Amino acid sequence: MFATSIAGSLPKPEWLAETQKLWPQWKAEGDALRQAKADATLLWIKAQEDAGLDIIGDGEQARQHFVHGFLEQVEGIDFENKVKMGIRNNRYDAMVPQVVSALKLKGRVHAMEAQLLRAHTKKKIKFTLPGPMTIVDTVADRFYGEGNEGRIKMAMAFAELLNQEALALQADGVDIIQFDEPAFNVYMEEAADWGVKALERAAQGLTCTTAVHICYGYGIKANVDWKNTLGHEWRQYEKIFPALAKSSIDQVSLECFHSHVPMDLIALLEGKDVMVGVIDVASDTIETPEEVADTIGKALKFVNKDRLFPCTNCGLAPMSREVALKKLEALAKGAALARARM
Ligand code: ZN
Repeated sequence: MFATSIAGSLPKPEWLAETQKLWPQWKAEGDALRQAKADATLLWIKAQEDAGLDIIGDGEQARQHFVHGFLEQVEGIDFENKVKMGIRNNRYDAMVPQVVSALKLKGRVHAMEAQLLRAHTKKKIKFTLPGPMTIVDTVADRFYGEGNEGRIKMAMAFAELLNQEALALQADGVDIIQFDEPAFNVYMEEAADWGVKALERAAQGLTCTTAVHICYGYGIKANVDWKNTLGHEWRQYEKIFPALAKSSIDQVSLECFHSHVPMDLIALLEGKDVMVGVIDVASDTIETPEEVADTIGKALKFVNKDRLFPCTNCGLAPMSREVALKKLEALAKGAALARARM
């Protein structure tokens, strides 16, 4: 009951990459970089186990960014000539690579991290990939054409590539494959219309557990400012949860603690496992076990205890290592307290 995990990313050690940045520069190259990425992955496997988490991830130590890490292994993308683009409906600007021709995987994307994970923990392992709609929103297009039709075509093309990598991750022994779709909270109508279909294409044929993570973004200033414009009640989930409830995806990860998401929206996910965000990633204040257990208690009014999985609201990548580590411990202690209360 209440098996804990992180949403996905963890801070990179300062010897691996620049710290507290969303698109950090690596501190090494070639073989040295490959080794440093593996070392950081091992370090976080151990730290998650020591903190008491039940489901272990790679902490996304081997990718510069949760979307662009995947795109680096895709043929048909020009990384040399990045362009500035407003992403998440122009919430903030990012330097993004461009799609210039038909898309194809160059080879495996995450074999190293997945195989390290499987070899170094006996616990269940979860692996994250960007969702097709969020990829489309984090890359510039010079190939698929303007408008919605081009976006859908490009999303389906990425979904096929994601599916190839997901099936390979499953063969590596991954127990849970999670697709990250923060764009679902921004383009709600499109998400319900074709975003969920693209997601199902990405998960096609998987027999392991499948999940989707939908949040209000990392704890960066642009996101915090955006959240301040969303009003007293955040009802974005209300528009997409019904489509997800009907989908083939097994688990939904959502933001809860310190958000203005009405807890009763969880009831729209009937039949799904729910990863409830009990750790705030936009604040360095460490949650107490009581706070974590209280959030779990509130969510339990709308989801059965066998289907509730305590999680972080989002990734911890831009935070300090020290804070992230304490937040992992708070997550595990809070879940233990909630178990005791039950
Ligand atoms: Zn997130």
